[in-house]
Amino acid sequence: MRKKILVTLFTATVSLVLIFSLVLNVYAVSQSDIDELNDKKSKAEDQLDDINSQKDSAEDELEDLKGQVAEAERQLDSLNAQLDELNDSISAKENEIKEEEEEIEEKDNLLKERMVALYELGDTYYLDVLFNSENLFDFLSSYSIVQQIVEADTSLINELEEKKEQLQSDKAELESNRAEVQTVKAEQEKKSTELKSLQAEKQKVIDSLSEDQKKLEKQIQEFEDAIDDAQDEIRKQEAANNAANGKYEGSFQGVLEWPLSYSYNIVTSIFGNRTAPTAGASTNHGAIDIGVSYVPVYAPASGKVILAGYVSGYGNYIKIDHGNGYYTAFGHLSSFNVKAGDVVSTGQQIAISGNTGVTTGPHLHYEVYIGGSSKGYRVDPLQYTSHPSLIYH
Ligand SMILES: [Zn+2]
Repeated sequence: MRKKILVTLFTATVSLVLIFSLVLNVYAVSQSDIDELNDKKSKAEDQLDDINSQKDSAEDELEDLKGQVAEAERQLDSLNAQLDELNDSISAKENEIKEEEEEIEEKDNLLKERMVALYELGDTYYLDVLFNSENLFDFLSSYSIVQQIVEADTSLINELEEKKEQLQSDKAELESNRAEVQTVKAEQEKKSTELKSLQAEKQKVIDSLSEDQKKLEKQIQEFEDAIDDAQDEIRKQEAANNAANGKYEGSFQGVLEWPLSYSYNIVTSIFGNRTAPTAGASTNHGAIDIGVSYVPVYAPASGKVILAGYVSGYGNYIKIDHGNGYYTAFGHLSSFNVKAGDVVSTGQQIAISGNTGVTTGPHLHYEVYIGGSSKGYRVDPLQYTSHPSLIYH
């Protein structure tokens, strides 16, 4: 019953995810869509918690059953050992009885032979004994000896018979013990079988819970993806709105294009300390200089021009905000193709390079800022810009 409800819930939520992805593709997304998705996601997480705790307790129960099965098996082993011992004792008794029987038979045959001999001799024997006896007393004593032998034989046989009876009664007692142990063993086997079947059932429950767990985890992942998609969509909408309002909030990730045609690949001054500074220039060069005269300069990424004008030292200067705290700047330009406030796309021409400001000759001074144009710091543009193979002068 519970499983059926879960399956229905799965179907319902998976359909919801599908509907939401359609909604995301077709319509504008708002924060309330995300709230709704988060709601569904936390419901799925609650279900997952519930299933996790069910699975935990089922696993505890399984461990307990495994212990009981092992104990039942140990008891069966011990009962089997007892049965083996009893069977050994019984066959030992059987051997003793057999030996006893053989002895009895032997003695019996001897007695029979004597009796037969006595019978066959009959009166002749007595007469023989009588005639061969020196007197009556001798006869009587000879007869009595024969009689005594027969009596001794009979008493020995009786003794043996008694011993055999004792052995048979011992054997019967052992057999009754064995029957008892077999009854206990049969019960134990039944118990063990029941425990094993309980264990198998519990394992099935755990397997089914694991399936549910996987489905819910997948579903939660789908909700998370949908939330990510919705958040991306909202960011895009906000960026579009901001661009329309003159603010640039791009999602620049740190890969810039070469701001010139790839054929312009001569670096005349690298980033960092330089030993022979130009008069008036900083010894710590926070840019690279590219040796070009009057050629087009392109935006290395999409962004918004925040400055396009004359700056002391830099000459004609452009600074672009690419969003996410990334800025680029270009100095010594001869002319501008953009003005402050313009939103530019990657590769769009922004200026013509030149020789304005403090220079030793025409070149493009190229800067990259991270963390903001004033609060941030300058980094080596070559580390952030894809570029042709360079020649250093
Ligand atoms: Zn420079």
